[in-house]
Amino acid sequence: MPESRAGSVIFAAGTLMPISSPPLRDGAVLVRGGRIEAVGDLADIGGKNPDAEVRFFPNNTLIPGAVNAHAHLGFRRKDAPEGATFSEWLGGLIERLPEKEAWTAEAARDCAREAIEAGTTYMAESSPYGECLPQLAESGMAGTVYAEFFPHEIGTPEEAVEFIVAKVHELRAGLPERVDAQVSVHSPYTVDPESSRLAARRTREMGWTLAIHLSESPEEVEFLKSGTGGLADIFGTNEWGGVGVSPVRYAQSLELLAPETIAAHLATGVSEEDIEVLAQTGAAAAHCPRSNAFLRCGLAPVPAMIASGIRVGMGTDGLWSSPSMNLFEETLFAVELHGMSGAAGLELATLGGARALGIDDGTGTLDAGKWADFAVVETSREDGDPERGVLEAAAGGGVAATVVGGNMIYNRLGT
Ligand SMILES: [Zn+2]
Repeated sequence: MPESRAGSVIFAAGTLMPISSPPLRDGAVLVRGGRIEAVGDLADIGGKNPDAEVRFFPNNTLIPGAVNAHAHLGFRRKDAPEGATFSEWLGGLIERLPEKEAWTAEAARDCAREAIEAGTTYMAESSPYGECLPQLAESGMAGTVYAEFFPHEIGTPEEAVEFIVAKVHELRAGLPERVDAQVSVHSPYTVDPESSRLAARRTREMGWTLAIHLSESPEEVEFLKSGTGGLADIFGTNEWGGVGVSPVRYAQSLELLAPETIAAHLATGVSEEDIEVLAQTGAAAAHCPRSNAFLRCGLAPVPAMIASGIRVGMGTDGLWSSPSMNLFEETLFAVELHGMSGAAGLELATLGGARALGIDDGTGTLDAGKWADFAVVETSREDGDPERGVLEAAAGGGVAATVVGGNMIYNRLGT
């Protein structure tokens, strides 16, 4: 067992931002067995626990780790497919799938490392048949890999769903305690309606969660409404396009929307009525604004979604549509786009993601009973909006240490 698991350790910083309560000057968390046992003043916690090892970062701010609600690990930071539209980009991606096999594992390792060095403690990753699970599991982060399946590669809808359910059972064998596998229904244009409905029912019956890409591009909206456009050109004028409704309505009709569902993007064509549908079904959203901007997909109506009670988290997506795996950088971009306060942004990146993924009883804030998941950020700005200062620092490479379940999996200060 790592040393930090053996006894009690006090992690303390000049400023502690629990998110669930106001910031504390010289604040500390007492960690035992991977979990937070107490949160408070360093002097108080230190006095009551004289035998605990103390790791004090006086010039830094300690915040909950980033919870990345939608990411792909298996893309490398160069040679992203080009394209003026989402479907052109996707067509390029599909063309290069055979070549990608040679370097996906290496890319996944690099991306996981990059996320950790940016303070990420939990990641919801989506990859074909869960191919990036080994790299997430060995990274030290907690997380879930959502295994995407493509029914046309497998057989009938029944066979496809049985296949991916069996695959997820197989993927779960021997995983670290806080790493999990689940199913992803990739998107409305790659998974047929019957397979989608069956997957939603089967996973829900078993108490599993589900990830989907939804309402991402204008072409997805066109594909579902009229069965035409760039996606129809790639996937054929199959029988399920052209149903005359929005992607959100379509997903609802297939029982894909539920509290267990995390829907990524929702960047295009999300009407007020769609927001109501999302709120009523309890589905959560992962907001990936940099990917949406890169692929010219539009802007998710995040403030309206939050106002309707929809649980929203942040996602980096993958490096072929996004410049980095840094969730705080993604969040700072969202803060600018939506005119949010630093505090609202910092909450989105941490507790927001945890709530969206249904894991907020175990992570997302610094509170007794939760896992000791946090990031230590080098901060200097004290005036104005301190939370925004922390976001800016973390976005700009200022994460000095990352702790997951009490284990320091990254530390460039040596403290
Ligand atoms: Zn994605």
